[in-house]
Amino acid sequence: MDPSLEIVLRVFVAAAVFATMAAWELFAPRRPLSIGRWPRWPSNFGIVVVDALLVRLLIPTAAVGASLYAAGHGIGLFHILNLRLSVAAVLGFLVLDLVIYVQHLVFHHVPWLWRLHRMHHADLDIDVSTGLRFHPFEILISIAIKIAIVMALGVPPVSVFIFEIVLNATSLFNHSNVSMPLWLDRVVRLVVVTPDMHRVHHSVVREEHNSNFGFNLPWWDRLFGTYRGQPKAGHDGMTIGLSIFRDPKELRLDRLLIQPFRQDSQRQQ
Ligand SMILES: [Zn+2]
Ligand SMILES: [Zn+2]
Repeated sequence: MDPSLEIVLRVFVAAAVFATMAAWELFAPRRPLSIGRWPRWPSNFGIVVVDALLVRLLIPTAAVGASLYAAGHGIGLFHILNLRLSVAAVLGFLVLDLVIYVQHLVFHHVPWLWRLHRMHHADLDIDVSTGLRFHPFEILISIAIKIAIVMALGVPPVSVFIFEIVLNATSLFNHSNVSMPLWLDRVVRLVVVTPDMHRVHHSVVREEHNSNFGFNLPWWDRLFGTYRGQPKAGHDGMTIGLSIFRDPKELRLDRLLIQPFRQDSQRQQ
């Protein structure tokens, strides 16, 4: 596959999912936003632009490029084991999802990584734009880990390609402030992380934001005991964000970028 086609498809799918969720939020919001879209969206979009530029500058190939290289040179465990393509593809997808779960858990518990990741949590509302808001250094580390796993296992390109598209789409979906019938949420969260499930992870309450680490599949949280069904205060009563970043001026793009390196805020997990 042509790597530039991959980028075009990823951007197209992400834009379509973003537009759908943004419209759904307008017509059927789950809870009223405390700050709203306008003070937050320019910064959350700005972060995406910075992320994209930095990644393009520093990492010449995406995970799909690495998997194409591994496939072309017979690199990785799956090639050594001579697995059938379908088996390697499914296994590769599952392993990548598990790695993202573990990575997220580690980012919460290792202090210097938490400094990078907490920027995602410091958003004072959670909506579809929060799904784009990750510090560029977190994105770079995440891509490096994905490339390492893809090369070590020899994950097939089709698997990596689908994983990247699905991960972008589910991140936008499960950060959305959308209302969904409770019965539907119960069914959907059996196979994919729902907005109600991920919103618990954005609670200001420490025990709640240290749960529900999954982005795609909800199974890892249930398997490893980090699953929490609902926030204690309910979705309407819960507070979003972190207690150390409550001032709306912290939502400015420059503040987001320097947030990990600031000395004026003590560690808070
Ligand atoms: Zn988190
Ligand atoms: Zn999140």
